[in-house]
Amino acid sequence: APAAAKSSKPAKPKVADVPLSNPDKVLWADVGFTKRDLADYLLAAAPYILPHIQGRPCSLVRTPDGINGEQRFFQRHAGAGTSLLFTQVKVKGDKQAYLQIDSPEALIAAAQSGATELHPWNCAPNEPEVPGRFVFDLDPDEGMDFARVVEAAKDLKDRLEAVGLAPFLKTTGGKGLHVVTPVDAQGIDWKTAKAFTRDLCAWMAADSPDRYTLNLKKAARGNKIFLDYLRNDRTATAVALGSPRARPGATVSAPIKWSQATAKLDPKRYTLATALKALKADPWAGYEDATRPLKPAIKALSKLA
Ligand code: ATP
Ligand code: MN
Ligand code: MN
Repeated sequence: APAAAKSSKPAKPKVADVPLSNPDKVLWADVGFTKRDLADYLLAAAPYILPHIQGRPCSLVRTPDGINGEQRFFQRHAGAGTSLLFTQVKVKGDKQAYLQIDSPEALIAAAQSGATELHPWNCAPNEPEVPGRFVFDLDPDEGMDFARVVEAAKDLKDRLEAVGLAPFLKTTGGKGLHVVTPVDAQGIDWKTAKAFTRDLCAWMAADSPDRYTLNLKKAARGNKIFLDYLRNDRTATAVALGSPRARPGATVSAPIKWSQATAKLDPKRYTLATALKALKADPWAGYEDATRPLKPAIKALSKLA
């Protein structure tokens, strides 16, 4: 090699102008996806991911040695080595700043840090004390047929619509589904909001006690779906739309059209390789306009449940 090349280190590859160290580090060994693959995906998916995470504290699941590696940590707060590309946000009652992702560059910084999952709060943007969406987290019991989870999602959809809300569906990249509904909850606190989500799930479980439970304990599930409303609280998170998972296959939490919510739905087909296509099809078009006021929904539920 020429002398000039010897004396200077090769430049680190960049994505969105953010340098990546160890870009060829394999993060998902079973499917061979690297840190560079993750950064490329996040950059391409940024227009779909960012509207749902901007302005909210966002925890990271970091697996710098890959998803099967020794290190796996859930990072909420900014630390000494935190990239300046993240926003740092302070919330009431906590001295330590939370991480927040507001730009494509911050998404790449997350990839650079080995973040294989993104977990935002469900508050309104830049208003941590105000609920901004509800996430109903449907958790099937071990070995349950996925078609039953799809049925539960549709049951929930009907109930949310009956109280005047406009829900959307996504895979989790894992075992269940998330039903997400944007709300205008100005003037309503998290306690009231969470109680609404619990009451709605309790209504559903009361109608089909053989199918659903609100009991968190795995042992109590007995072939039922746990209606996990606990995501709907201050500081609680749910995996972001478009986020990959630190799970085999590099599955992604992908948006699903309600018309695709059939027994044929296979959540495992949404991966780092295929999720971009699903995002670009934009099954969540109209999400912002689907924001509905919470107050009338609370009133409607009190009459129905
Ligand atoms: P699955 O479909 O497999 O249930 P999931 O993402 O819904 O995937 P859950 O275990 O039901 O997984 O958790 C729901 C959400 O709650 C997660 O997406 C995450 O944001 C949050 N969460 C779960 N466990 C923890 C934890 N130990 N610490 C912090 N947040 C958590
Ligand atoms: Mn779940
Ligand atoms: Mn859960």
